[in-house]
Amino acid sequence: MPKKKMVVFKNVDKKYSDGTVALDDVSFEISPGEFVFVIGTSGAGKTTLMKHIVKEEVPTKGEIIIDEDKLSEIKRPDLPLLRRKVGFIYQDFKLLDSENVFENVSLSLRVIGKPEKEIDTIVPNLLHLVGLGDKSERFPYNLSGGEKQRLVIARALAHEPKILLADEPTGNLDNASTWVVVDLIKKINEWGTTIIFGTHDNKIVDTLKKRVIHLEKGRIISDAEGGKYE
Ligand code: ADP
Repeated sequence: MPKKKMVVFKNVDKKYSDGTVALDDVSFEISPGEFVFVIGTSGAGKTTLMKHIVKEEVPTKGEIIIDEDKLSEIKRPDLPLLRRKVGFIYQDFKLLDSENVFENVSLSLRVIGKPEKEIDTIVPNLLHLVGLGDKSERFPYNLSGGEKQRLVIARALAHEPKILLADEPTGNLDNASTWVVVDLIKKINEWGTTIIFGTHDNKIVDTLKKRVIHLEKGRIISDAEGGKYE
């Protein structure tokens, strides 16, 4: 039996309607529990690649398989199931500014019909996990950048995703907060979640020494273990 793969891209092309080629013959496989960096300069295709994993974009050509499901066969009503499997952390947070910390996490559980009693135990645990246990009443505008990003991580973990996509998660953070967030993502990986971490911060990549997929102009120019890249 071949070993199970969590993420498979087979010869994926993405051409946007204005003619921009954002992914060009991209192929790779990621095993369950792997930690993979996707690096490349701005415009290389990192965000486009991640959007394909949650079917926010569909390939022009090629095939994507997530947790053994072909995305081309996933119909619209089943998209929420896919998106529960995949947590997404954005650089610009996408928090609800009118809701407090607790609500920002609990809302994502309420929409999937979790009973309030369960929410009342899950959310404090998640906030504790990311070091925001004592800030559940705060509003996003009263949080530092690092705290906001940790709140985003707590929200992304609420559905216990198999895959965590982090798209430039430290792009807006100072050096100290960057390492707090990186350490947290590392820990989440050690607990078993597959991580795809998009960044153009070589310091992080050089420090963690994980597998690195290097994109340039939508093409993979190297894919190597141990923090190596061209
Ligand atoms: P990165 O995340 O590495 O900065 P992106 O995936 O955002 O790269 O972008 C890859 C290329 O696709 C860029 O040239 C970008 O301008 C283009 N692009 C991204 N989204 C769209 C879109 N919705 N329509 C047209 N072009 C796009």
